[in-house]
Amino acid sequence: MRPFSYERASSPAEAAAAVANMVGARFIAGGTNLLDLMKSGIEAPTHLVDINGIGLDSIEDTPEGGLRIGALVRNTDLAADIRVRRDYGVLSRALLAGASGQLRNKATTAGNLLQRTRCPYFYDTNMPCNKRSPGSGCAAIGGFTRQLGVIGTSEACIATNPSDMAVAMRLLDAQVETVRPDGSTRSIPMADFHRLPGATPNIETALTPSELITYVTLPRPLGGTHIYQKVRDRASYAFALVSIAAVLQRDGTGRVAVGGVAHKPWRIEPAEAELPNGAKAVSARLFASAVPTHENEFKITLAERTLAGVLATGRASA
Ligand code: SF4
Repeated sequence: MRPFSYERASSPAEAAAAVANMVGARFIAGGTNLLDLMKSGIEAPTHLVDINGIGLDSIEDTPEGGLRIGALVRNTDLAADIRVRRDYGVLSRALLAGASGQLRNKATTAGNLLQRTRCPYFYDTNMPCNKRSPGSGCAAIGGFTRQLGVIGTSEACIATNPSDMAVAMRLLDAQVETVRPDGSTRSIPMADFHRLPGATPNIETALTPSELITYVTLPRPLGGTHIYQKVRDRASYAFALVSIAAVLQRDGTGRVAVGGVAHKPWRIEPAEAELPNGAKAVSARLFASAVPTHENEFKITLAERTLAGVLATGRASA
């Protein structure tokens, strides 16, 4: 690990200004991803700004009937919150499907949204990777691709987003609230928060340099049956091959988002109009532009079959 300096911030605006004031500075909160990346030599910040003392650690009701989740609310606390369990069950289930109990106790809401891909070549500093080292190439293309993306990929990168929580947040149409170093704030829809790789897979989100996530806001509850079904190579502590987040209504309508298949949570709203016609019809719309490899084309079939199971569960509990 390379040497770095460290400071504790006392407010969101102060933290954003501190990162803006030093080249190579980074925020740190739970550190469950960043510290691993630093030990591996993939990230080498010159300065860490600790944001654990800036507040943003509570969940508040909004006047609109939703929830405003502080950026530093731990994954364990978010999953256990009675309002989340009652009104946003898909979010609670997605959180509990991720990582381990120990990691969820440390990992934060904002950090979960910002975790980096688990592409094995990204973690191997001997291999070319456009995400880790822009312009160096992509070792995954033509390599081992079973875990990687099938849709929204590019010639520069075929990695997937590893977050379970983000799939549920996308399904729920969450908004990501931020503060910039000049103190200005903005709200970014989850649909626009994560980017597809294009020619710049190193730029993963809509955040600008030094912009700090302050809250994630959920709109009013949707009602219906909430399901998060994750398919992985072992029963726990593994990233999704495919995951399905769904909110299903009694009249056969609903929402569906897919994890483990793209550089961002994959949701195509027009595909949801096909829900009354079954999983095959929805899947055909969701994956119409898929470009899988011969090693990961199974993910499309797996997603369709997992969705079929989710829809059957939804019908049984309606
Ligand atoms: Fe890097 Fe993306 Fe290629 Fe993986 S798929 S090696 S993350 S550029």
